[in-house]
Amino acid sequence: MFTIKDKKLKKLDQSIGEFYKLNARYFNSLINKFGRKVFKKEVKQLNSFADSIKPTAEFDQLILQNIKSNLRIQETVIDYFTDPKFHLTPPKFIDAIAGQGSWMMLEKRFINSPWEMRWHHTEQSLERGQLLANEKTDEAQKLAKKIIPQIKKDILSYGIDKGYLPANFDFQLYLLPPKDGGQYSRWNSKTKVFELGNYGFDFFHIGKSITVMPTIAYRTSFHEIIGHAAHQSNSVDMPFSVSFSEEIASLTSVKTTVEGISDHASKQSWDYIQQNLSRLKIHQEEYNFQFNLEEILAANQYEYLFLSLVKDRETREKGFKGYKYIQQITKNPMLARYFKHDFDSEFYDEWGSFGHTFGPDHFALMVNKLSRKFGRKYLEQNYNRFNRAHLTGVWSWEVYPDAVIWMMENLP
Ligand SMILES: [Zn+2]
Repeated sequence: MFTIKDKKLKKLDQSIGEFYKLNARYFNSLINKFGRKVFKKEVKQLNSFADSIKPTAEFDQLILQNIKSNLRIQETVIDYFTDPKFHLTPPKFIDAIAGQGSWMMLEKRFINSPWEMRWHHTEQSLERGQLLANEKTDEAQKLAKKIIPQIKKDILSYGIDKGYLPANFDFQLYLLPPKDGGQYSRWNSKTKVFELGNYGFDFFHIGKSITVMPTIAYRTSFHEIIGHAAHQSNSVDMPFSVSFSEEIASLTSVKTTVEGISDHASKQSWDYIQQNLSRLKIHQEEYNFQFNLEEILAANQYEYLFLSLVKDRETREKGFKGYKYIQQITKNPMLARYFKHDFDSEFYDEWGSFGHTFGPDHFALMVNKLSRKFGRKYLEQNYNRFNRAHLTGVWSWEVYPDAVIWMMENLP
């Protein structure tokens, strides 16, 4: 659809695909010091080649800027883990990879933890728990299986109607069996198979029979299909460096764009479910319960990421005491105690949730820049175009807002 004009940039774009593969491979063996040499050498070469390119076309400039951003952020992350003389403190490091003010934002959210919501939610869980039916019975599973074709039909018609999915889009949808410990849903971009976890269905004893409420099944289907799958199908014809692959999503700079897009899709699902409560046979209380739970889980994620960085500070900043610091900012001795005795994850362990944690903020950054440029009203009136624009290309969060603006102006 969009092609690179500059010849040198075209070459760089092709070799960057190999770098993404190398990066994904090395990330799984950071302990290997030889791997670090290979990685650093490759980054150096790519950077100096990138610096020698001076493209004139606007699209080419975006592509180059994006490659540079990916290289810079990924090298910073790798150095944080593997360079014993790494120069940034954890707060400065998180600002360098997620944007200025990120540490302050994490700290602020940590201080303003949603305790009241958690309190009410725990109480509701107790009441709700008494009505829950076991998902492993035949009766329950039959009910869930029966809804699968309806979910697929609903998702496809919503996605195509709002411009997220191309008109000929299709996928396979399978229900995973119930499993202890939870089974994650997964969109496979190669096979176009969507496996939906059984946890998406909640079963209740109502009167003498069992009822199923597919609240989270819808929410998850929106995340995976209206989010990830739509992002993929809109980006297939893009240049290598911004087209969808499993490897590209392992770049730290890209993870937040990818998950921000899918989080935006999840948010659409809450409106959709609310409007279709009676057709989907979901009770309003159950909707509220799950809606609040989603907010609580998001808060947990922020807080774990923050705590993991505080843990890192203890090992990286001389004289820094995490226990004292947490007690001081939260005035919550029990929380400080939890950090000291029970919480032992470092940022390395929480890295997997980086995209989910910062995704919504980076998506909002893009929406704000677009609103300033085009006005909110224009975006609302051109909603389908905005959807295609924000789904075209897999960009670093730093370049994403400008890329979407460009798409708004240049999409056919
Ligand atoms: Zn996701």
